[in-house]
Amino acid sequence: MTHMASALHVPFDANGPALALDVGGTKLAAAVVAPGGRILASARVPTPSGDTVDGSQIWAAVVALLDRVRAEAGSPALSGVGVGCGGPMEWPVGEVSPLNIPAWRGFPLRAHLADRFLGMPVRLHNDAVCMAVAEHWVGAGQGHAAMLGIVVSTGVGGGIIYGGRAVSGSTGNAGHVGHIVIDPAGPECGCGGRGCLEAIARGPAIAEWAVSRGWSPSRIDLGATTEAVAVDARLGQPIAVEALRRAGTALGLGIASALAVLDVDMVVLSGGVALSGALLYEPMHQALRQHAELGFTRGVPVVPALLGTDSGVVGAAALVLSENYWEAD
Ligand SMILES: [Zn+2]
Repeated sequence: MTHMASALHVPFDANGPALALDVGGTKLAAAVVAPGGRILASARVPTPSGDTVDGSQIWAAVVALLDRVRAEAGSPALSGVGVGCGGPMEWPVGEVSPLNIPAWRGFPLRAHLADRFLGMPVRLHNDAVCMAVAEHWVGAGQGHAAMLGIVVSTGVGGGIIYGGRAVSGSTGNAGHVGHIVIDPAGPECGCGGRGCLEAIARGPAIAEWAVSRGWSPSRIDLGATTEAVAVDARLGQPIAVEALRRAGTALGLGIASALAVLDVDMVVLSGGVALSGALLYEPMHQALRQHAELGFTRGVPVVPALLGTDSGVVGAAALVLSENYWEAD
């Protein structure tokens, strides 16, 4: 670490808005969020990347982004700082090693923020947990006692709500539904295993599978992405249809297994891949009908998220603004 940003003296107000940060491999997002969940100001920048980027440069970008969004909100007194970050991480100490940010390995993000925002509560959790929390707090899962949130994006993650409260597990890692094994002979997974839900249904895997079968996008401007697969599937391109069927079936199998373990009353699906439409959802529901046959798993609603790309910062803010979603010190 070359240097730490100096401490700020931001006034504390237990009833004030929260400062929220969402750290992803491609973008850093920040917001000032009112106690009821409304976004007062927000900003995002690309995550510094490349071989020459070191951890302190990413930290400097975080500091600049947080300063900017606070200023845009009129520099209010704050009730705390909430953070969602890609895993893995040491939790709750908040030392993060996001798979897609190689420059941060064991980076003490929570401690750095606590030094920067002296006297403020700083709370940090897995970004997928934050998205599940956001959907439970002000989105599709509002009012549900037991909910599973699943994010299908660059990876597949999840978060669990029981009794209206977020569940973290013994090391903060409860809800990693992306590593439910769907096909033991399936593709290698980033976790070191094989055939995990994430290895089959994450966005890049869907596009890679289609390309490997000879598909190329009709919309050249979209590139070989899941979005382009979804466009071509709607046009009836058979490999694209099959790519979504394969991913949707894997999702249905994964959700059926999760329902049996978790006994939740609702599943909320978010992330870019979840926007792929009926050609993803129909095979998913078919797999669910075939494999979720127990009374308590049959017919559990699986619904799309209500919050869009803001769910990461809204959920991060909820770690501070609601006591229901934070169970550590
Ligand atoms: Zn895995």
